[in-house]
Amino acid sequence: MDSLPPQASRFIAGTVLSGWLTALAVVVLSIGTPVDGRTAAVCAVLVLLAAAGELRPIVITRGDSRDEITVSTPFALALVMVGPLWLTMAVQVAAVTLQDARDHKQGVKVLFNGAQYALTVLAARATYAALTGQPLLHGSPLELPDHLPAALAAALVYLSVNQFLSGLVIALVAREPFVRSVSGDLHFHLTTSGVLASFAPVVAASVQLSLWLVPLLLLPIVAIHRSAQLAADREWDSLHDGLTGLPNRALFRLRVQRECEDTRRSGAPFAVILLDLDHFKEINDTLGHHVGDDLLRVVAERLRASVRPTDTVARLGGDEFVVLVTDLRDESHARELADRLLAGLVEPFQVDGVRLEIGASLGVALHPAHGDHVDLLLQRADIALYAAKVERGRYTVYEAAHDVHTPARLTLAAELREGIERGELFLQHQPQVDVRTGTVLGFESLVRWRHPERGVVMPGEFLPIVENTGLITPLTLTVLDLALSAVAQWRAEGHDVTVAVNLSVRHLTDLGLPAHVDQALRRHGVPPSALVLEVTETLIMSDPVRARDVLHLLRELGVTLAVDDYGTGYSSLAYLRQLDVQELKIDRSFVGHITRDEGHATIVRSTIEMGRNLGLRLVAEGVEDAETLDMLRGWGCGVAQGYHLSRPLDLAAVLPWLADRSTTRLAGSGTALEAPESPRAELVPAVVGTGAASC
Ligand code: C2E
Ligand code: MG
Ligand code: MG
Repeated sequence: MDSLPPQASRFIAGTVLSGWLTALAVVVLSIGTPVDGRTAAVCAVLVLLAAAGELRPIVITRGDSRDEITVSTPFALALVMVGPLWLTMAVQVAAVTLQDARDHKQGVKVLFNGAQYALTVLAARATYAALTGQPLLHGSPLELPDHLPAALAAALVYLSVNQFLSGLVIALVAREPFVRSVSGDLHFHLTTSGVLASFAPVVAASVQLSLWLVPLLLLPIVAIHRSAQLAADREWDSLHDGLTGLPNRALFRLRVQRECEDTRRSGAPFAVILLDLDHFKEINDTLGHHVGDDLLRVVAERLRASVRPTDTVARLGGDEFVVLVTDLRDESHARELADRLLAGLVEPFQVDGVRLEIGASLGVALHPAHGDHVDLLLQRADIALYAAKVERGRYTVYEAAHDVHTPARLTLAAELREGIERGELFLQHQPQVDVRTGTVLGFESLVRWRHPERGVVMPGEFLPIVENTGLITPLTLTVLDLALSAVAQWRAEGHDVTVAVNLSVRHLTDLGLPAHVDQALRRHGVPPSALVLEVTETLIMSDPVRARDVLHLLRELGVTLAVDDYGTGYSSLAYLRQLDVQELKIDRSFVGHITRDEGHATIVRSTIEMGRNLGLRLVAEGVEDAETLDMLRGWGCGVAQGYHLSRPLDLAAVLPWLADRSTTRLAGSGTALEAPESPRAELVPAVVGTGAASC
């Protein structure tokens, strides 16, 4: 009782004391009162029927806590009318105490419930006695029709006092309004207990008339029991998930709504944590639905075991669960609970003789920081979940920054990990050509994703989301592998070309990357000089100290470093040179306009000039026409890449493209052959031919 609100403690103590003292007083005052044989027989039958009713209660749902309504009410109420008060009280108190003891209820609850029934019986009897002019302590035969109004009034008082006492204690303990605690089940109580109570005069009259009528009395009561139990079951089903027995979406929403209202008063934050299992679909598809179902049941148990009894774990459908955690201290408390939920799933699952390891991703949204109503909280937890899925096996707390990604994009990114595992990534290779000689120096390998439903997805659609996450590492390593395998093939066919791979921000802080690159080069037997790694200026500038270390290690391997999209950031050329970068790729947003825009032309020309002075190789991106190529050549740009030369090519198209290109050029006009300026790669004799204009 220590942790109860003071008002609740006082109320419980008052009820227990008054109830049990009343019961004691009634027993003491009734000692020695004679009971005639006929009344004793009637009472005995009613006691037996009441006891039988207690044994078969109607189980009802209050939220996901189960409650019981007893069908003993008409017999107990009949006793209120015709039996001695001490007996009625004893029967009721004994029944409820036995029931509580069976359910292992706490001592204080047992005491309270006993007292509640003692007071309820007293109030009903007092009403009946007052209205019929009978003594309080002793019952007497029911006289019809005179006593009927008093009997019905007693029934009403019986139900009201009972409902009032239990409603008030629940409200005080849960610190919720009294009206809400009684209104929840009022309709159900009226239609079950109310109907049963109004049956009490019929029971009393029939038992008095002839004990042979008893079996007939039971029929309607059994019917009421059955229909009430069906209604209660339906109600339970509508709020619970049939497979796991957890609350379903509807009940979860109700709980969150209720919590939103409570939090407005108490101010304690709460969290909605959405959880989605990884690889569940595969388990279902490969091991069968019964294994999937069993797994979901065990997952539900583990989740329930990971949270406090006051928290709600619900299943929203499929492999999606949601947890409502209340009374949080702060965000770090929500993080602790998210960690605990994840930790609860770490231990492998033993299902149907199969050992399954299953991870999960969690999205956390907090009330009131991320939303003040259930829909917004669920939506934001969903967004956070997708962000978390991208980095499987962890959780993400919602951030406004996640909102820039549409749910469709987030879904896509979340699917990417499996896409990588299933080998759905592939590359297209865009040629890079010596501007003066037209020689193909290498290819930039650009990633694409062959999505099972959407078809080919371009990097712009998924990279921005995964770029800042752990998923970028497997992506880049896959790209590196595919690119090196491709360049190994081309080189084996006699084309001494390089391949360029794009890096993302994470890699420049990853001191393990150089070792991965080294291993990949060895695996494919490709010399480091044939690999170019492209990084953007903004990447370098986001953590210059760490980036310098990583770039240094990469340089030591012997790979070429290129600055991609140059001109879109703010780094100085001199600074980039210090980082041992050898190539500068001028961004296509400048190159694409040099024929029309003086300003862009000046920027590109001076960049080429400065870059050359610093010993950098210049690559112009986005060369879309011959005129641009001519201008670049005039300014001394070394290498060009763009649609005018070729669009990115599928792997299968590269060798035919190279072959076709060398034939056309050998058969071409024979422009003066210039020595290649680019030091990147040796020229392959067959390809040396005409100038870049033939591209
Ligand atoms: P980027 O590295 O600057 O790659 C060049 C992009 O410009 C490619 O777009 C290419 O198709 C496009 N492009 C080439 N020539 C022309 C042209 O003449 N005109 C126009 N308008 N565009 C041209 P894509 O393939 O959509 O790639 C976009 C960006 O995605 C790349 O820009 C790069 O930053 C990134 N990306 C591509 N593959 C990877 C990858 O494997 N890893 C990482 N981290 N990023 C990648
Ligand atoms: Mg690039
Ligand atoms: Mg670029």
